[in-house]
Formats: sequence, C-alpha cells, structure tokens
Amino acid sequence: MADHDFRTEAAALDADDPLGPLRDRFLAPESSDLVAYFDGNSLGRPVADVPGRLADFIDQQWAGRLIRAWDEQWLDWPHRLGDRLGRLVLGAAAGQTVVADSTTVLLYKLCRAAVDAQAAQGRTEIVLDTDNFPTDRYILEGIAAERGLTLRWIEADQRSGVTLEQVREAVGPKTGLAVFSHVAYRSGFLADGPGITAAVHDAGGLVLWDLCHSGGSVPVALDEWGADLAVGCTYKYLNGGPGSPAWGYVAARHHGLLRQPIWGWIGRRDAFDMGPGYEPAEGIRSFISGTPPILAMVPLDASLDLVEKAGMDAIRAKSVALTELVIRMADALLAPLGVEVASPRESAVRGAHVTLRRHGFREVTAALWREGVIPDYRDPDGIRIGVSPLSTSFAEVATGMLALRDAIVRLDAGQ
Ligand SMILES: *Cc1c(COP(=O)(O)O)cnc(C)c1O
Repeated sequence: MADHDFRTEAAALDADDPLGPLRDRFLAPESSDLVAYFDGNSLGRPVADVPGRLADFIDQQWAGRLIRAWDEQWLDWPHRLGDRLGRLVLGAAAGQTVVADSTTVLLYKLCRAAVDAQAAQGRTEIVLDTDNFPTDRYILEGIAAERGLTLRWIEADQRSGVTLEQVREAVGPKTGLAVFSHVAYRSGFLADGPGITAAVHDAGGLVLWDLCHSGGSVPVALDEWGADLAVGCTYKYLNGGPGSPAWGYVAARHHGLLRQPIWGWIGRRDAFDMGPGYEPAEGIRSFISGTPPILAMVPLDASLDLVEKAGMDAIRAKSVALTELVIRMADALLAPLGVEVASPRESAVRGAHVTLRRHGFREVTAALWREGVIPDYRDPDGIRIGVSPLSTSFAEVATGMLALRDAIVRLDAGQ
C-alpha cells in the first residue's frame, strides 16, 4: 500500500472514532513541536483542564482553607481516588484501593506484607519472571535478601511474556507469592490474569499483579479474578503527570491479616491521637504510611473524568484498532527494511503498545525526537510505539510510522 493509502485509511478510522472528540481535551500548546506522540505508555499527555484545576486547588483549597482542608477532604483523597480507580479502571469494589507512594514503594510494602504472612506457613518462595520491569525484579531481590527467601525465576520470552503453563510449572507447596506484570513493558504481551491467579491460588500462593501498563488501556477485573494484591502507576495511560502517585489494591479478605512494613502515623488507628505504639488502622488505610501527596493527585481526577466518559471497553476497542494499524504499517513499510514486530500479533494477547526491533534504532529514535515524533527506545534494539487511546489519532499513527520509515532510510543512506 502506498503512503497516501495509509493516510486515507487513517482519516477514515478517525472519522469513525467515537472517542475522537476526547482528543481535544488534551493540552496542546501552540509552541509544541509535537508531530506524533508514541510514548503515552511512559508519560501520558496532560488533560487540558489540568492548569485550571491546579490553579483552583491552590487558590481555593490550599490558600483558601489551609490546614482545615486536611480534615475537610484531603485525608480522604487516597481513598476517594482509589475507589474511583477501582470502579472505572480496576474492577475493584470500594474500600480496597488507595493512592499513595510510588509503584516501587507500594510494591515493597505489599510484597513484604504478603511474604511475611506466607513465610509463617512455611511458604518461602517468590515466583517472578526474568522479563518483568526492573524495579519489580530488584524489589523482590531485596525482599528475598532481607527475609531469607528464595526467588524462583520463570524465563519469560522477550517477544511475548509469562504463560499460564510456565506459572503452573513454577508454583508449588513452597510458593508464598507470585508477582507478574499484566502487560509486559517490553513486548506488550497481555498475560492471562484470571488463569494465572487461579493457578497460583491452586498451589496455595498469593498473587500480586503489576498493572502499570494496563491501567487505563486494558480492562481489568481484580475482584472477579480473585487477585490478592495489585499495584500500578498513574502517569502512563492514566495521564496523572510526572511522578504522580501510584495506587495499591489489597483484596478485602486480607485486611487486618496482611501487615505492611512501613509503619507510619497516617496508617495507624486513630492517627490524630498520636498515641504510643503502632497499631494498624482498619481496612485499606493501614497500607498508607505518611502524608499523602495531595497536590500530585489533582491531575488524576481530570484524567479519570475522561476515562469515565469514554468507558474502558471503548478505550480497549480503540487501542486494539490503533495497534493493528501500527502492525499493518510495520509489515508493509518497515519489514522490507529489516524491521521485526516483537509484540504479539494477536490482539487478544497484546496491550496498548507495539515493539519494533532493528539495529540502529537508538539513532533512529534520537532523529525522530528532533522532529517531534516521539516513541521510546529500549535496549537492545527496540522502539516502542505506545498509542494512548484517549489522546492518539489514527492520522498521528500514520504520520509517525511514515516518519519512522523515512528515518530508517536516511540512516541507511548515511545521512
Ligand atoms: C512504569 C513501571 C513501574 C514504575 O515504577 P515507579 O516506582 O513509578 O518508578 C513499575 N513497574 C512497571 C511494570 C512499570 O511499567
């Protein structure tokens, strides 16, 4: 297919896109050089309301109410936003999710709580995979070292990810906790959430899902899966802004039984009594440690308004259509230049990004960034095309993929 055919196809897809109007709800400054944004899987774009909401927050709540706002509403924000995420994005009933900390810190807190409860039953192994996101692997290495536990590694295929069969083989009577990403950060492979959860449970283990690349791009049903624990960030498909706080989910049946290791005053029963000795608060509150980052939660509400308007099913449908266009263009235009699709071709097992591989992609990425086409590069030779369904148009995909083709041609010509 010629270039203009892809442009025509993309225009038709945009014309039919029920979520198309929501693209105008993202901030696009006049001065921006943006041509195509392919990195909403690393840092989502700001919603257009965010400057106004931040200004109102500062004016009315921070300056206006000062310390009174903690009592009036801020202390409730981790729960309010957690419940909202639970309802719109995670398939989690109220009272099980809080917004706090970073993903890394919440991973530590939830994993430590789980392995401690399980080690008391003689379950001393943590099951994980070699291709999980680095922070997940490092945190589990640290916990294993700290608690004298054993790591049982699953060798994951970098072009797909952890399979149900591999998990069944790895778990057993020693399994305390298993930790996986639902969508693999490298390949975009979508793991079998309910199947893997059931397999870990059959062996008597607990399971924690890292949903960083799923939240806001792929429908998730934590309660229905019977998941024990989950964490995720809010700055990728959830557009919460750089360093926006993470969320943690602990299934209600574990409340009061799992105890997290960072005993701070906000997670204590009757925090404002400031009494002697730590006693965990009831419910999910005990998973909070210190003062919640309220200011950094403001943009998330604006983004969740868009998610609510769109609905996760429509978001997923558009995401599938976007990644299918990426793959069709890669096959037609880039395969002849030696580019390989290193993500699952079957949409049912693919999240919202497509990884392409070829030598020279580090240089190609740098060249693309200079012209406002923004994917990201992951060693050894991968470009990730992350297409955030709420903010990305099909035309943007077409333009960006053609620019990628041109950049490869220029690189090969030594220009
Ligand atoms: C992005 C990401 C993280 C990030 O953790 P931070 O603490 O926010 O740096 C963790 N896990 C996965 C799978 C991710 O994709």
